[in-house]
Amino acid sequence: MAENLIEVKNLKKYFDMEAGTVKAIDDITFTIKENEVFGLVGESGSGKSTTGKVLMGIHPPTEGEISFREHDISISSSGRAKAIKRDMNMVFQDPGGSLNPTKTVLDIVGLPLRIHDMVDGKKEMAKEVYQLLNTVDLDPERFMYRRPNDLGQGEKQAVAIARAIATDPSFVVLDEPTSALDVSIQAKIMNILIDLQDEYNMSYLFITHDLGLMRNIADRVAIMYLGRFFEVADSHVFFETPLHPYTKVLLGSFPTTTKEEEKLKPDLKARGEIPSAMDLPSGCRFHTRCPFKEEKCLETEPELVEVQEDHFVACHLVNGVDDVEYDVEEVEQEEKEFEYDIEGIEMKT
Ligand code: SF4
Repeated sequence: MAENLIEVKNLKKYFDMEAGTVKAIDDITFTIKENEVFGLVGESGSGKSTTGKVLMGIHPPTEGEISFREHDISISSSGRAKAIKRDMNMVFQDPGGSLNPTKTVLDIVGLPLRIHDMVDGKKEMAKEVYQLLNTVDLDPERFMYRRPNDLGQGEKQAVAIARAIATDPSFVVLDEPTSALDVSIQAKIMNILIDLQDEYNMSYLFITHDLGLMRNIADRVAIMYLGRFFEVADSHVFFETPLHPYTKVLLGSFPTTTKEEEKLKPDLKARGEIPSAMDLPSGCRFHTRCPFKEEKCLETEPELVEVQEDHFVACHLVNGVDDVEYDVEEVEQEEKEFEYDIEGIEMKT
């Protein structure tokens, strides 16, 4: 059994705004194992990107604990030990925004090597960068002395990945790393990421709203909604036998490629829009959209409970906290009256 690389306990991240407090992360507990791809999926505003940034120390937590190989890192990046900063890195959604437009690819990819004293002089740095560019499938002869504005989106993201792996980290946060790219380039970048994880024995926190990508890469998956985890399971369990109504809703909107997959696909839709993280619903925060909600769901927030080995769910219906049962006929009737597009969160009728 792999050791835990990262342990997160009762993590909260609140942002105080003029209009009120945004509870971006509202008490989550999880682990990421050595050499594991932990997938985090959810709609916009669920708190998944904030989770990645808090793990990286870009935002300090409001409450809770984060440890990295048993070292406490529940602080912002500036307070962390240099050896730990070298061992963690992040790839952002917008590759262009994360690269300094005035620097060459050599300088950008070489910067972490210089910061962490991993090279002795420019010549050695160039040699390392040359190899890193080869690793991410960029021809060093062509790209080493170019600047970000001379690169395509996929090439920029490959440079960002080369920079992220330059210090040979154990852990990388991948925050929607392909969502800004053309579909044709997405597959190439995903293949690079999958190969690198294997070659470098890294752990990833892979953040996406794209369930297709998640299925290809994640060992375990957590689904997040308004700052909380609703379901955590091994990837095959998550996709084949989901238990939380919200997971079923998202999987129901996921395009399938075979008849077998289509048969397994849950036929369920959510109502309405995701509420504001500044004004959370009482009880279960999904109750405003859940087709199965009962009176108790409006009053009591369900805890994330292990319902089967390594399968955690936060729902009264599944947790046995009360005797709520699926009433499919009633749901079907209600669905005739309401049809919503979960992807665009847009009412159709
Ligand atoms: Fe739906 Fe109630 Fe379960 Fe929340 S606790 S997901 S409202 S059934």
